[in-house]
Amino acid sequence: MEEIKVAVSGANGRMGQEVCRTVLSEDNLKLIAAFDRHGEGEDIGKILGEEELNVFIEKLTEENLSSKNADVMVDFTTPMSAVDNIETALNCGVRPVVGTTGFTEEDVSHVKEIVDRQNLSAVIAPNFALGAVLMMKFAAEAAKYFSQAEIVETHHDKKIDAPSGTALKTAELIDKGRKEKPPEREDLMKLDGARGGVEKDVHIHSIRLTGPIAHQEVIFGSTGQTLTIKHDSFHRNSFMPGVVFAVNKVMETKGLVFGLENLLE
Ligand code: NAP
Repeated sequence: MEEIKVAVSGANGRMGQEVCRTVLSEDNLKLIAAFDRHGEGEDIGKILGEEELNVFIEKLTEENLSSKNADVMVDFTTPMSAVDNIETALNCGVRPVVGTTGFTEEDVSHVKEIVDRQNLSAVIAPNFALGAVLMMKFAAEAAKYFSQAEIVETHHDKKIDAPSGTALKTAELIDKGRKEKPPEREDLMKLDGARGGVEKDVHIHSIRLTGPIAHQEVIFGSTGQTLTIKHDSFHRNSFMPGVVFAVNKVMETKGLVFGLENLLE
């Protein structure tokens, strides 16, 4: 396999550190740059508790990125900065693989436009865990037979977007999959938000607690029965095989691929 030079933005964050560790452990991947707003000048090897790598945390700028000659930039930052980061990467001819969640539809269209204009490729995946992708696929299948569905997603309390990108994507797939809409009803609301938020006629309930990483249940209801599809990410390493797969794949694809499932097919 050919060597792929990888830059990581958000390298000092929870996911970014896991990505750096993973890149270092893959034979054909080379960690070439680490960008973050925290820890400028620190060696990323030291941050990871490993030997020094002579790769220092820097601010993500076009100047800093273009000097590295990277092939791919993996981004796990914040929804407020990720679009700019993607634009920076594409302007430097670097292919973005993005795990950051919280993009609007306009953000995704904007990214697609730049990717096409630059004749490059990019991957954005709200969830890189294979099990979560299958959960969404199974939920879309179940929606053909169950019109009523609710989503309960649980994440760690540092997550800043709600509901999760996975929950929004699942609601979209359920809506596309089902043959009829669930019956409309007027609830007697004694507490605002008690029924969660509604996306595409699917109620989504977001739990934020210290302890969990990323978990989701999709509960379907029909006469006398429920069907629950559940996925748990107990560790951030659950996302890494998907990230490695996307980093390799983005070198071969054209345009923007949104969702890991569209890379797997
Ligand atoms: P985190 O620990 O807060 O890490 C994000 C890091 O990125 C922070 O150090 C942050 O600095 C830095 N950052 C923000 N803007 C930046 C910029 N312009 N350039 C360089 N670095 C920048 O967050 P996390 O838990 O790793 O999560 C990161 C994202 O990944 C979130 O959107 C989360 O929902 C998503 N996620 C996705 C998946 C998936 O499978 N797709 C899985 C898990 C998490 P500041 O603190 O200064 O902002």
